[in-house]
Amino acid sequence: MKCDVLTLFPDILTAYLNESILKRACEKDLLEVTLYNIRDFASGPHRTVDDYPYGGGAGMVFKPEPIFGALDFLKGDGEPRKVVLLSPQGKPFSQAIAEAYSREEKRFVFICGRYEGLDERIKVLVDEEVSIGDYVITGGELAALVIIDAVARLLPGALGDEKSIEDESFSWGLLDYPHYTRPREFRGMQVPDVLVSGNHKEIGLWRRRESLRKTLKVRPDLIEKVELTEQDKKILSELKEE
Ligand code: SAM
Repeated sequence: MKCDVLTLFPDILTAYLNESILKRACEKDLLEVTLYNIRDFASGPHRTVDDYPYGGGAGMVFKPEPIFGALDFLKGDGEPRKVVLLSPQGKPFSQAIAEAYSREEKRFVFICGRYEGLDERIKVLVDEEVSIGDYVITGGELAALVIIDAVARLLPGALGDEKSIEDESFSWGLLDYPHYTRPREFRGMQVPDVLVSGNHKEIGLWRRRESLRKTLKVRPDLIEKVELTEQDKKILSELKEE
């Protein structure tokens, strides 16, 4: 997967991309991220990228010229790319979108906004507007990292153990079950006996039950959408009785 990121602050992304799973994905050539400073595509002696809003109002607006300039430059090689604008007004990002991106897309451009927003005319360049949640952050850089991270870890070979993806929150439509490691007792708190029983059927049942318990408590909306087995339904009715 290749990602071109248009940003005014490339250093924000560099630090995160140079650690852990994303770093290894880059080393294994599964992921290639190229950072472009949008200011390099601005003209004038000060390479200004923002200007006052027509109609007045607070804040500044990202000028269209540098973004168009950057996209013209990138599209010069003729390779198709999915252009994603990070925006709180976009469609909500989710594990399902991350999975679709990892399966279907090979090349992205992420446009990181700043200021009050971008000149509306840049929307003609954009294939998809994506939001990482119903809140406003200062710029699109963290949002781009969230999406790159969520998609890259799904690429075959990115994680040491592919099985961990299958068990993660949202993969089955439910939240993940609780995890424990050594020591077996810590400050008076015990690891549940079933996890040290060696009985994998029982462990599987316990994990499903705890996954359902957590989802029911914190995100009951997810339960509505998931395909439940007869056993899940039985567990849920027991959990509701508790
Ligand atoms: N005035 C804009 C609004 O209310 O929709 C918010 C602008 S925000 C301060 C600046 C930039 O941060 C946005 O252009 C976008 O790129 C990014 N951003 C902020 N919140 C975001 C979110 N929830 N998801 C994705 N990007 C976001």
